[in-house]
Amino acid sequence: METEIIKVTPEDNEAIEKAAGLIKSGEVVAFPTETVYGLGANGLDTQASAKIYRAKGRPSDNPLILHIDSVEMLSMVTKKMPPMAVKILSAFCPGPVTMIVPKKETIPDTITGGLSTVGVRMPANPIARKLINLSGVPIAAPSANISGRPSPTTAASVYRDMKGRIPLILDGGAAGFGVESTIIDCTEEVPVILRPGAVTKEMLEEIFAEVRIDPALTKKDEIPKAPGMKYRHYAPKAPLVLFEGKKEAMLGALAKALKKYQGEGQKVGIIASSEVIKALAYDAVYDYGSNKNLYAIASNLYNALLYFDDKDIDIILAEGTTQKGIGLAIMNRLKKASGQNIIKI
Ligand code: AMP
Ligand code: MG
Repeated sequence: METEIIKVTPEDNEAIEKAAGLIKSGEVVAFPTETVYGLGANGLDTQASAKIYRAKGRPSDNPLILHIDSVEMLSMVTKKMPPMAVKILSAFCPGPVTMIVPKKETIPDTITGGLSTVGVRMPANPIARKLINLSGVPIAAPSANISGRPSPTTAASVYRDMKGRIPLILDGGAAGFGVESTIIDCTEEVPVILRPGAVTKEMLEEIFAEVRIDPALTKKDEIPKAPGMKYRHYAPKAPLVLFEGKKEAMLGALAKALKKYQGEGQKVGIIASSEVIKALAYDAVYDYGSNKNLYAIASNLYNALLYFDDKDIDIILAEGTTQKGIGLAIMNRLKKASGQNIIKI
């Protein structure tokens, strides 16, 4: 199959209509959102959603998130929005947040992996919203990467993974936040964060008295409630070692580790902040931005993880961030990318 890439703006009705036509006829199309690029198909069509799993090589027990463009479309997804979800909807939607709610019986089991709940999100990206609107159905869309690989934040990264697997990629430029949506379980007595994202715990605590984090995000032996969180994910080709600790200690720790691995004859790549890279004076580096700007680091993160894939490197050392705010999402992705190979400093 030929994979076409069309550059689009939100006003570009012709291209978005073409994509919507493909969705309506049961095909899979990649499109930009304000988190990462999504791989979309009709969320009410079993066959169409099966194509998403095939294109990604995604395990069938890992459910998909349904994307809606309006409150009216919620009725196609769930019969009853828990009050907690209504509160999140009015505070943060459209935006980078997914609510887990009871599913309507008409939602195929292929979407939910057989669960009685479903993830629903209202993206803010105007291209995504128009695509959903013109398709007339909730669009099931995971990130547009091969399972286990870093999520794509540009059309070029989508193409690298999806070439020959899907008919169309809408290229709307770089995705905004660069990390996937915050997933919040709205079926318990208090909101539980199953996956951290750009809607942060601190932001949720402004509207809820109590917010929990799925224990599996911080403890090794717990089983995560979001099935997708149990898989190795975001992994670059070379093994990655993550450094966790205060930012003042990063330069010393990375310089020491660089020396050690080089001493063992290994070719080292380093992903770090502008501050550390400037002081390190080393060549094989990816600068993920200033350690004073976590949002910039989030938006560069997956490009950083992809950067060394075509370089001659044996091992990647990565500087960790704080776990405050969107830092929790950054560290969650880096920990997964490292396969829990973490050095605490
Ligand atoms: P992706 O869209 O590829 O970024 O992944 C979607 C994430 O949402 C995966 O980790 C899924 O396991 C999770 N997810 C989707 N639906 C549910 C659900 N009903 N309950 C818990 N987690 C879910
Ligand atoms: Mg994904």
